[in-house]
Amino acid sequence: MPERTLAPFYCSGGTRTSHHTGIMFAFLAAAVDVTDQTSIWEQVDQKRLQATVEKLASFNTRNTNTPELGQACDWVASQFQEIPGLQVETIRYTLPSSRRVPVTKEVPEVVATLPGKTDRTLLVGGHVDTINMQADIATGRAPGANDDASGVALTLELARLMAKHQWNQTIKFVAFSGEEQGLVGSTALAKIAHAQKWNLEAVLSNDMVGNSSNKAGQKDSKHVRVFSEEGATHESRELARVVEWLVRHNIKGFGVKLVFRRDRFGRGGDHTPFVEQGFSAVRFVEVHEEYSRQHTPDDLPQYVDFSYLANNVRANAVALASLAQAGPAPTDVRIVRDQSQDTTIHWKSTPGTRYALYWRETTSPVWESYREVGETNEAKVTLVNKDDHVFAVGAVGGIPQEAK
Ligand SMILES: [Zn+2]
Repeated sequence: MPERTLAPFYCSGGTRTSHHTGIMFAFLAAAVDVTDQTSIWEQVDQKRLQATVEKLASFNTRNTNTPELGQACDWVASQFQEIPGLQVETIRYTLPSSRRVPVTKEVPEVVATLPGKTDRTLLVGGHVDTINMQADIATGRAPGANDDASGVALTLELARLMAKHQWNQTIKFVAFSGEEQGLVGSTALAKIAHAQKWNLEAVLSNDMVGNSSNKAGQKDSKHVRVFSEEGATHESRELARVVEWLVRHNIKGFGVKLVFRRDRFGRGGDHTPFVEQGFSAVRFVEVHEEYSRQHTPDDLPQYVDFSYLANNVRANAVALASLAQAGPAPTDVRIVRDQSQDTTIHWKSTPGTRYALYWRETTSPVWESYREVGETNEAKVTLVNKDDHVFAVGAVGGIPQEAK
């Protein structure tokens, strides 16, 4: 069993690398039989991302109050419909009148579903709507190339890549609307998910994932921030931590910067309504924002770094592909409280599911060690003291559950 390694989902042995826009991908030995899926994130099409962002930015606005929002949703739905295997719906919800909404109305957003072998579900999305805070709602130019055509382009590209394969988990690809009016579209969908008891295991919201530098001279095209908060009924932070681990071990030269917060100060995102409904949800966002272009006519495609956006697609693809083929998470994960230099953990397992242990120093925000242990419900790590470490167990590729 490999230890202190690696990618949980490659069966072919050895290490294979390839070069794309300066990023090296290392495919490492391991576990689930998905040889034909290892190239998923080699196939990200940067030109297609650019074309999507340019198309969406060509609408004068995509403000949820305007007819252009419906036109943009129709275009996004048409793009999903071109992908074999997706079930595409345009759902409608009520946008109530408020400071940014002159009149209450019904508005659309787009949900495309890739059915898996089970009803266990993952959701990834960006918001298609835009806003110009300084101009008239109906006529003010609001191209929203980075905020958040970048997230919608990423979501469409992921749908194209993921739909080529069959997964254990069902995957929903979403173009949210009403984000700029107070997360209204994501709130509507999160309530549907809760009311219909979706078996939703993870939500990846991508909002502003294409800007790698700002006017202050800061630049970082090698990381993406993933925001997560902790709460009583969800495990967003464990989702964030495993995303960081998966990206670190599968994409060389690109990484996740974890931020253990709900979101940025004074700002919101479409992951939060899902957290509030009890789901695990995180937000991907660029490291250095350029605030002067947000919600203005200056949020233009020419300021989007499409190579950086492509890397963010790859980071999401690594996470989705791993989570989408993981077996169910273990339950009742317990540390044996003996006085020993070794650590023994046991859990309730599901037949046919292979498991992996993770551990880290109590002060470390990220997983430091990993070991696959196969189809079992107990494992011992010798000479690693339980008192000094946090341990967790996950189905291989899935979200680890902390051992208590
Ligand atoms: Zn946004």
